[in-house]
Amino acid sequence: MLQVGRIVRACSRIGRVNYSSAALPQTKLFINGQFVDSETSDWIDIHNPATNEVIGRVPQATQGEMEAAVRACERTFPAWSDTSILNRQQIFLRYQQLIKDHLKELAHLITLEQGKTLADAEGDVFRGLQVVEHACSVTSLMLGETLPSLTKDMDTYTFRLPLGVCAGIAPFNFPAMIPLWMFPMAMVCGNTYLMKPSERVPGATMFLARLLQDAGAPDGTLNIIHGQHAAVNFICDHPAIRAISFVGSNQAGEYIYERGSRNGKRVQSNMGAKNHGVVMPDANKENTLNQLVGAAFGAAGQRCMALSTAVLVGEAKKWLPELVEKAKKLRVNAGDQPGADVGPLISKEAKQRVCSLIDSGVKEGAALLLDGRNIKVKGYENGNFVGPTILAGVKPDMTCYKEEIFGPVLVVLGADTLDEAIDIVNKNPYGNGTAIFTTNGATARKYTHLADVGQIGVNVPIPVPLPMFSFTGSRASFRGDTNFYGKQGIYFYTQLKTVTSQWKEEDATLTSPAVVMPT
Ligand code: NAD
Repeated sequence: MLQVGRIVRACSRIGRVNYSSAALPQTKLFINGQFVDSETSDWIDIHNPATNEVIGRVPQATQGEMEAAVRACERTFPAWSDTSILNRQQIFLRYQQLIKDHLKELAHLITLEQGKTLADAEGDVFRGLQVVEHACSVTSLMLGETLPSLTKDMDTYTFRLPLGVCAGIAPFNFPAMIPLWMFPMAMVCGNTYLMKPSERVPGATMFLARLLQDAGAPDGTLNIIHGQHAAVNFICDHPAIRAISFVGSNQAGEYIYERGSRNGKRVQSNMGAKNHGVVMPDANKENTLNQLVGAAFGAAGQRCMALSTAVLVGEAKKWLPELVEKAKKLRVNAGDQPGADVGPLISKEAKQRVCSLIDSGVKEGAALLLDGRNIKVKGYENGNFVGPTILAGVKPDMTCYKEEIFGPVLVVLGADTLDEAIDIVNKNPYGNGTAIFTTNGATARKYTHLADVGQIGVNVPIPVPLPMFSFTGSRASFRGDTNFYGKQGIYFYTQLKTVTSQWKEEDATLTSPAVVMPT
């Protein structure tokens, strides 16, 4: 079982009620440096996905509480944006160390609320930590440009300034990494931040807020509200909020992009995916099959960069039986159990949805080579488990291909040539990630140039860029024009200002008005 003692200590640090008490642990709001109880009468239960036990509840913040959180952001912005960049950098240098020191506690909280395996939960924290580490390079990242002597005595230079109050809306699948894509980048640039974590997994964000406070972030620079639609609408409509970062489903992301943009805000919206792994017959078979299985079923397929679709080209179609054998060997279990490879799905509804998409594949003519629908996990009979599932002979018009499944289901298509595989990938509306497996450089080069997808792996199954680059999903997987983290993240959270200055020597003073456009 999860190490409850650790979780209790972690929860008391973030202002939750003890797990062993009769009362449900109640998630607090974080407003102006205080962890406060919500006065709402509207609460959402948090479940342990491995057991479906209710382990806590999260408030739908009231209008007054959300207003107070934005006011705190507004009030602290002038002083925070005026704080020397070296001091802001120091806070984030301390923050990255605190995250490292508490990585395991954070991972336990993630496994408890989200279900993923402990090792994977540590990876979740680690990939977010890397963004914080990169944010510490702000003194280089925020540099402007200068061009001297544009004309006599005239220089032009740019600098980047924070926008003001920014906000983030996060999904359930990476409880630490995705909030860490958001507020550290924004705040190190001098913005203040309003965060709304996923109502299903708020614990990691609350813990991260406490650590940021311990690192020295002044009260009110980061504020956290909870809720669903009302909180999202509040963020999209509030006039003080200048920019919104969203990660989640297309349904929510399109809506937030449109509503936020209509209200004059900058919005970046990272959304759903259908990532294809194209397997060439010249690939290293053992390596490729292992990578494919890991990337399809790891995190129970609940990653936006999961390789959920395989396109086997030519002779590689014969590798299917071995693919199935490898997938069969994965151990499905609660995320905190030793040796677990695949944890539960986030909710009963998610399990139902995934199973009905598998059903649809069977009805529409796909071959069910591995069926995880009826899996039973000993000791966790009430959990939301679906075992690794493989549907082969899938065609592009099938529902299981058109919809993002977001579960441990690999759909397999065949193609006779690389060109045919590229055509399949490019006809799919999503453009988040893809990978090609090959030992031929020319094949790899052709694929990376012609596949119309934002993030491409060559013999790398989940090509999520490290934070010195940016997360560059495209087409239906992204709305906006500036991506998350890396240089793009800095651009998103700053306003470019251009200054043209002329310092003339006295004897060069104009003797009459210059009425002609300067050239
Ligand atoms: P979700 O859209 O249900 O929830 C995300 C956030 O939006 C939550 O904070 C939620 O409260 C809010 N929300 C949910 N429905 C809403 C609605 N109808 N209107 C307004 N707000 C709403 O997403 P999820 O289920 O938490 O996450 C899974 C999805 O996120 C998948 O589609 C996955 O591909 C995507 N995702 C994308 C990326 C990426 O970088 N492209 C990364 C992670 C997850």
